[in-house]
Amino acid sequence: MSAPLPFDNSYARLPDRFFRRLAPTPVAEPRLIKLNRDLALSLRLDPDWLAGPEGVAMLAGNRVPDGAEPLAAAYAGHQFGNFVPQLGDGRAILLGEVVGRDGRRRDIQLKGSGPTPFSRHADGRAALGPVLREYLVSESMAALGVPTTRALAAVTTGERVARETFLPGAVLTRVASSHIRVGTFQFFAARSDTEALRALADHVVARHYPEVADAEKPYRALLEGVIGRQADLVARWLLVGFVHGVMNTDNMSVAGETIDYGPCAFLDAYDARTTFSSIDQHGRYAYGNQPRIALWNLTRLAETLLPLLAEDEDAAVKEAEEALAGFAPRFEAAYHGGLARKIGLASLGEGDAELAGDLLRRMAENQADFTLTFRRLAAAAEDPAADGPVRDLFVDPTAYDAWATRWRERLGRETRGPAETAAAMRAVNPAYIPRNHRVEGVIEAAVERGDLAPFEELLTVLSHPFADQPAFARYAEAPEGGGVGYRTFC
Ligand code: AMP
Ligand code: MG
Ligand code: MG
Repeated sequence: MSAPLPFDNSYARLPDRFFRRLAPTPVAEPRLIKLNRDLALSLRLDPDWLAGPEGVAMLAGNRVPDGAEPLAAAYAGHQFGNFVPQLGDGRAILLGEVVGRDGRRRDIQLKGSGPTPFSRHADGRAALGPVLREYLVSESMAALGVPTTRALAAVTTGERVARETFLPGAVLTRVASSHIRVGTFQFFAARSDTEALRALADHVVARHYPEVADAEKPYRALLEGVIGRQADLVARWLLVGFVHGVMNTDNMSVAGETIDYGPCAFLDAYDARTTFSSIDQHGRYAYGNQPRIALWNLTRLAETLLPLLAEDEDAAVKEAEEALAGFAPRFEAAYHGGLARKIGLASLGEGDAELAGDLLRRMAENQADFTLTFRRLAAAAEDPAADGPVRDLFVDPTAYDAWATRWRERLGRETRGPAETAAAMRAVNPAYIPRNHRVEGVIEAAVERGDLAPFEELLTVLSHPFADQPAFARYAEAPEGGGVGYRTFC
């Protein structure tokens, strides 16, 4: 098969114990339901070839293209705090890597491509609903400017997968800077395989942190690099109201991208205690816990690196602790700086974090919609006569009034004019996020009626989250009742 895919597979060149080589399992009746043509072009892939019979066969896992070296990666991980020494790609297969137009290397991975040696008793497959959810949410995150894996394509398989009921099966083609996780390091640490750890760390440095290669202490600098990117990433999540849902260590990319979209969802009404996942019964992965959990996961990463950080164990622990101490200030700066921009301040000054925190407190007490509050604040920054639509989001609108007085006093000390401030606010406060009730509607139409038109429309709207799109204003609306009690089952 001739395939215009310029694969260059660096992970497949690592030692054999990093993965198992195997091909995807073919499916009965592959049908392409979505191809991300722009993403394909940015990766130097030919969208017309991908949409043709050979391309679709590849995207379904029915044919392995020239140059691919398919494999399932080994990894471990803490799931809800409990360590599992072997997880691994149980329903995903890495086809290989390509270098995009930007010069950056990306994994091309199939998800839902059949069982692997890491599947345990599960089927290795994915249902159409979760594939469409990941497609929508990951592409929305990319459009929002949040580092993330991308969706290249979705195909249906013509086969049913057994979940609570039988559901249509699908395969998602996922693109990532890499799929190396905290859990990948844990896999080798759990086996005291320091040689593999060093090979993995060197691979990650070369691939994701080349700037630290010549540092005096490259592994310490690597740890600091991952900590910094994760701190920034979690701040970005909070600033758009994203709840990942399963921040297990195997779902945390060392490249600093959002990875493994399962029971994730966006806040409607603001409440830091929000969890959506049906399996997160104790709120471990609640919206407001995400920074703490990121640090917990990074501490697990640091533990795996101890043998590389220093000869002497006490010295290594000291290196790790110093690096981990950098998480909080990095997160605080990213989060509070971002909040300041959301309320129209060009930079974070004395008292500004408290001012933004006061707004969030009032929003929580008044079940105000997170996305709408900030979006509508832009108009209010331009003209106090536009306070009405913001006030209306608060159960007690006077809670907003009291805050708005303080806010206007502070805005008065900005050097930018009101129109400029409002434009800057609209550039950071999206109008369109993948609202849970909309995502559910899209999935229902696709799964129950085979109708993909709602998926296409929502995806189009989400591609321009910061633009006012009057024809699609309904997609900006909050659900009835603030979306309280929404549950995800992935
Ligand atoms: P996740 O909850 O998606 O992070 O997955 C945790 C582990 O379960 C990973 O090792 C997955 O590969 C594996 N897994 C999840 N779903 C399936 C499935 N349907 N078949 C095989 N393995 C699965
Ligand atoms: Mg996972
Ligand atoms: Mg998953």
